[in-house]
Amino acid sequence: MHPVPDGPTSPASGRYPASGTAWPASSSCGTDGKLEIVFITGFPAGLLQCNCYVLAPHPGADAIIVDPGQRAMGQLRRILDQNRLTPAAVLLTHGHIDHIWSAQKVSDTFGCPAYIHPEDRFMLTDPIKDFGPKLGQLLLAAMFREPKQVVELDRDGDKIDLAGISVTVDHTPGHTRGSVVFRVTDDKEVVFTGDTLFERSVGRTDLFGGSGRDLMCSIVDKLLVLDDKTVVLPGHGNSTTIGAERRFNPFLEGLSP
Ligand SMILES: [Zn+2]
Ligand SMILES: [Zn+2]
Repeated sequence: MHPVPDGPTSPASGRYPASGTAWPASSSCGTDGKLEIVFITGFPAGLLQCNCYVLAPHPGADAIIVDPGQRAMGQLRRILDQNRLTPAAVLLTHGHIDHIWSAQKVSDTFGCPAYIHPEDRFMLTDPIKDFGPKLGQLLLAAMFREPKQVVELDRDGDKIDLAGISVTVDHTPGHTRGSVVFRVTDDKEVVFTGDTLFERSVGRTDLFGGSGRDLMCSIVDKLLVLDDKTVVLPGHGNSTTIGAERRFNPFLEGLSP
């Protein structure tokens, strides 16, 4: 079985920095007095190696968890404990099982809401729909139910304040109908692209609800409009930047003005 059935269209080499690697390790005081995010860490979780990210304004603060995948809980607890962080929100880039696997557990354990686009909400309880029979075997052992608190991300371009961090939500259908990307601003902009954009690749569109045309429109309208320096933290594989993808991503050739 391919280790990342839900991953990049052509798998990128390398991995996201090992767990516990904080990015960036900069000061928490912005020059304009605005809170900056100093703590972003990621680790690939489970068999499907989905990147789970933790972001917080400073140690001891509330935190945002992005895409807690399979078996994310152990590692997540270590990161939270080490940095005295309290989860305030679980953000889901889309409903695929490798991204939502531990969402209910994390959300209910810490009593915080899970945020997902309404078009992908059904996958919280029906995550098998998208994947083949091999993965289905794995799922027999898993019970999926919705977290107690679910918030629908139904407004494109909406800004939500979570854990003292302003998060902009852009609807980017294509990989799934309810795929979204999350943007936060540190000293530079950071975008969590889920399975929409990867280092040198894009999300697959042959699964349920996928559309190649929608995916390209989403990338052009919502991602290629961002500054070249914007850091891309994808759902699988290495981090990259919008500028690097604009120049070197073979799937985006000729799309930038
Ligand atoms: Zn994925
Ligand atoms: Zn996916």
